[in-house]
Amino acid sequence: ENTSNKIAAGEVVEKPASVVKELVENSIDAGATSISVDIKNGGISYIKVTDNGSGMDEDDVEIAFERHATSKIKRAEDLDSISTMGFRGEALASIAAVSSVELQTRAAGNTYGMYVHISGGTLREVRQTGCPVGTTFIIRDLFYNTPARYKFLKKDSTEAGYISDTISRIALGNPEISFKLTSGKALLLHTPGNNDVKSAIYSIYGKEIIKELIEVGYQDEKYKITGYIGKPEAARANRNYQSLYINRRYVKSKMVSYAVEQAYTSILMKNKFPFFVLNIELNPLLVDANVSPAKTEVRFAEESYLSRAIYMAVSKALSSDTL
Ligand code: ADP
Ligand code: MG
Repeated sequence: ENTSNKIAAGEVVEKPASVVKELVENSIDAGATSISVDIKNGGISYIKVTDNGSGMDEDDVEIAFERHATSKIKRAEDLDSISTMGFRGEALASIAAVSSVELQTRAAGNTYGMYVHISGGTLREVRQTGCPVGTTFIIRDLFYNTPARYKFLKKDSTEAGYISDTISRIALGNPEISFKLTSGKALLLHTPGNNDVKSAIYSIYGKEIIKELIEVGYQDEKYKITGYIGKPEAARANRNYQSLYINRRYVKSKMVSYAVEQAYTSILMKNKFPFFVLNIELNPLLVDANVSPAKTEVRFAEESYLSRAIYMAVSKALSSDTL
């Protein structure tokens, strides 16, 4: 059991940022409106994630670290959808297999909370405790028992950068939630959670980008496309400033990037990549996100229709801007 969790961990947990991603997505699934993350040494020695979500009761806690013990697949067809995040109860078991995990959580309506300590996949302590409603995870010494993995960690500042990028992407897709990231005393990121994508963009990219934004609003029978694209002069040298969400979940899709870039072709010079933060709402059955657990690259059914819709949405926004 511990061995298979360690193997699964290799799939789900690649670096500190993957731990942060899984924990933050769980907080979102738990309905949190405020999520703070604190890291030390780029998350290698310490990651703390605190949320004000639903919390867990004693029964939830008991099974949370078991593999495939997800509370999120309620109907068989959910397996085909990405309406909730996470990959079917692998994350906590995987993280606990390769680190030391402390959990403090209290479910709304309960008078006491629960404290759990697990390390290397072994339960060390579980008891009742007093704590606020919501959940706090503290992860220490990631990969302490998997030296091969540990060796591949980059320097602290690089890993911290990955974490900051991960939270930024999630924050842009969830503007109704306030996200905060600190590394020791340094505040790296703080979004207001006021449900305004533009405010989230401002918090993450600074005020310069704000005057370069064009709003996108498009809808047909199949797709609703909303968000912001950058004016041609805000285009970048790489795709790091392109954030795509499918039903609010951050994903990557070369196809979508190409479709957006197509709409700019005549107005951009070569090797320039437009800025965008776009959310596409569509029937989850038309997306296959489960290509592999840690990967965010998605595949679409009816690709050419979607590609066309994106092209039209972006073209429309661009031409309305030049009017
Ligand atoms: P999954 O997210 O696929 O269900 P995880 O291993 O990430 O699997 O989490 C296991 C379970 O632990 C979740 O289904 C949920 O019930 C519980 N859980 C994890 N994190 C939280 C949280 N922050 N708040 C409330 N419940 C949580
Ligand atoms: Mg999860």
